[in-house]
Amino acid sequence: MTARRWTVLVAAGALVLSGCTSFADTVSTSPPPTAEPTPKQAEDDDGAGCPAERAEPDPDRPEVSLDFRLADDRRSVTGTETVIFAPDLDVRELVFRLVPNGPDAAAIGNRLVVDEVRGDDVARGRYEAVGAGDPGGLYVVELADELPAGESTEVSLDFSLTLGSRGFDRLGVDGPVSWWASGAPLLAWEPGVGWAEDPFVAVSGETAASPVADTVVTVSAPQDLTVLMTGARAEPSPPSGGRRTWTSEEPVARDVGVAAGPFATSEATTPGGTRVTTGVLPGGDLAGDVLSTWTVAAIADLEALLGPFPYDTLTVALLPDLGGGIEYPSMIFEASPSREVLVHEVAHQWFYGMVGNSQFRDPWLDEAFASWAEAVVDPGSGLVSEVALTLPGPVGAAMDAYESPGEYFRLVYDKGGAALLAAQRAVGDAAFDAAIRCYVDATAWSIATPTDVQRAFADLPAALQILQDAAALDEDDAPR
Ligand SMILES: [Zn+2]
Repeated sequence: MTARRWTVLVAAGALVLSGCTSFADTVSTSPPPTAEPTPKQAEDDDGAGCPAERAEPDPDRPEVSLDFRLADDRRSVTGTETVIFAPDLDVRELVFRLVPNGPDAAAIGNRLVVDEVRGDDVARGRYEAVGAGDPGGLYVVELADELPAGESTEVSLDFSLTLGSRGFDRLGVDGPVSWWASGAPLLAWEPGVGWAEDPFVAVSGETAASPVADTVVTVSAPQDLTVLMTGARAEPSPPSGGRRTWTSEEPVARDVGVAAGPFATSEATTPGGTRVTTGVLPGGDLAGDVLSTWTVAAIADLEALLGPFPYDTLTVALLPDLGGGIEYPSMIFEASPSREVLVHEVAHQWFYGMVGNSQFRDPWLDEAFASWAEAVVDPGSGLVSEVALTLPGPVGAAMDAYESPGEYFRLVYDKGGAALLAAQRAVGDAAFDAAIRCYVDATAWSIATPTDVQRAFADLPAALQILQDAAALDEDDAPR
């Protein structure tokens, strides 16, 4: 499937290049250029397929309301999710991804169960396994009738979430802190394509695709805990019955992350106006002011490369050192006291948060691009080596093509980041960075595809060739 897809893309790219009127005439209403633009002209002239402004989110995007209640023992969460959704294609069902039920769920102790589904148009709900653990990786809400494109429906799901305690994952509990992300059924809609029903894979990595949604989050937690989460957070309610309720709003979130613990928080505002909240636990591996300073600096450095930070807020929760970090919209779980990891996760706010992708089908569109951005703003980190470009195997495969975590990281992160660095070197920083900005602005708040990369680099054939060669799948270098 992936090999065929890339073959089509290469053909499309060749078509774009041979026509070489840029992709403006294929993707926008801009008048076609009067002459074939050179890379230099492309750099100078935003008309060469580059939108004048960053794309706005779909005005008909879903509305998602998430109401979580963390139990007194802090090891489970119950909640209700309400979704108002108007598909852009006719549908007969709504599909939600149950990310916590991945193949490792039983070993870690994670579990997400849908207790009840309600809605005027709802017939019934069912699970589908798709390679996940019990009770399944997808929850399918069957509708009584077809829902035509453009019509909206409202569905509410009650759910129960168990937080595992054996390893770093998207949800968990460790000592005094509980955290969960993708902790509610995730609306698995890819606009223009349909439901993302991809299988779960054994390799640790994201496999979801979800649209941005107007999102409101409410969290009831024991009163001694501070809640950090996606979105602009309001002051908590006064304690009542031993609990406080925290709310936040984020108008363009694909997903939500929440952490609750005895966090000490620091607040800062970046020069660009992003409100940064960082939280560290007592005896944490970093001082709060250090984490705050790192975060503000990472945003400023990446804004210089990629344009304005996508969100009004960014919240970073420093978890126990379980290794690594995970990005969520306007929220980062930092589980390693590492500045390099933090820069990588901040870069994901552009590549994944704003420029979405199918993390199953095209994991390189967030991981290779975040790795590249990290390497550019933090060249001393050494996390991406251009030598990786010589590794055999494709950067651009789907998650199920990578047979081990090592292979996935080496090819998607290292070789992918290296390919972008090599492409940048081939055409120069100015032209390359301008094309990246065009890509970011053109695909903002959507789910991007490799075709969008092809379009962005159509006027820089030397860079495009390097990316195509690295990402291409052919049988000879398919992963073993
Ligand atoms: Zn990453």
